[in-house]
Amino acid sequence: IIRLDNIVKKFGPLTVLDGLSMEVMPGEKLALIGPSGSGKTTILRILMTLETISGGFIQVDGDHLYHMKKAGSLVPADERHLHKMREKIGMVFQHFNLFPHKCVLDNVTLAPMLTKGVARSAAEKRAMELLDMVGLADKAKSMPAQLSGGQKQRVAIARALALSPKIMLFDEVTSALDPELVEEVLNVMRKLAAETDMTMLLVTHEMGFAHDFADRVLFFDRGKIVEEGKPDHIFRNPTQERTQTFLRKII
Ligand code: ATP
Repeated sequence: IIRLDNIVKKFGPLTVLDGLSMEVMPGEKLALIGPSGSGKTTILRILMTLETISGGFIQVDGDHLYHMKKAGSLVPADERHLHKMREKIGMVFQHFNLFPHKCVLDNVTLAPMLTKGVARSAAEKRAMELLDMVGLADKAKSMPAQLSGGQKQRVAIARALALSPKIMLFDEVTSALDPELVEEVLNVMRKLAAETDMTMLLVTHEMGFAHDFADRVLFFDRGKIVEEGKPDHIFRNPTQERTQTFLRKII
């Protein structure tokens, strides 16, 4: 459902992704792990079209994200096309990024109403189902500031789901949370994986969760995939020395 071909991403002189190729199958749960600065977040941001690329091709659900222009430069596809592509992907960020002046319900209904023209009543009905799914139906009228970090993150998940994406991206969604709030967010993700056939990509430092949750794990270092495989392979018997060193340090 996602295919990256030879992606190069530079920030000025810094090459963050250096000819990265990877594929994600429909319904797959993929964990991206690796040291800080290795380019994991950048991959998710590129898929959300929050970053452009310096070279390569990206296909999502059979469509190209970018078009090749004459003289070899890549340009984002036109806005209408990008809009269509963005609806296929939902993203949850480390720092929640909820709209602070909107109540929980409005946070979840805003995108479907504005981007898809869904009527308020239908958007609210769907939002309440999603809030129920993340265990927060009783907080629909609360403001984000009244919620705990774990609750905010569950609202952010409900909000990303409101556009019915085929693919969900989770960028270190538990890193900013107090330890006792981590589990409630991971539980929502487990539920989502169990109850839907959504494709899920997560960047995480929660190795235990990555092990239990992912079908496949990619270990990144310096913008390249060093090693990939089933969780048992990566976490129990990594063959590359860099993977072994990384895991020894953090587990
Ligand atoms: P972490 O686990 O710390 O989030 P990461 O593997 O997700 O790390 P990225 O956030 O993708 O890494 O960053 C990769 C590199 O790109 C880092 O060196 C970072 O400083 C750099 N970088 C990211 N965004 C920008 C930007 N907008 N401008 C300049 N450099 C950037």
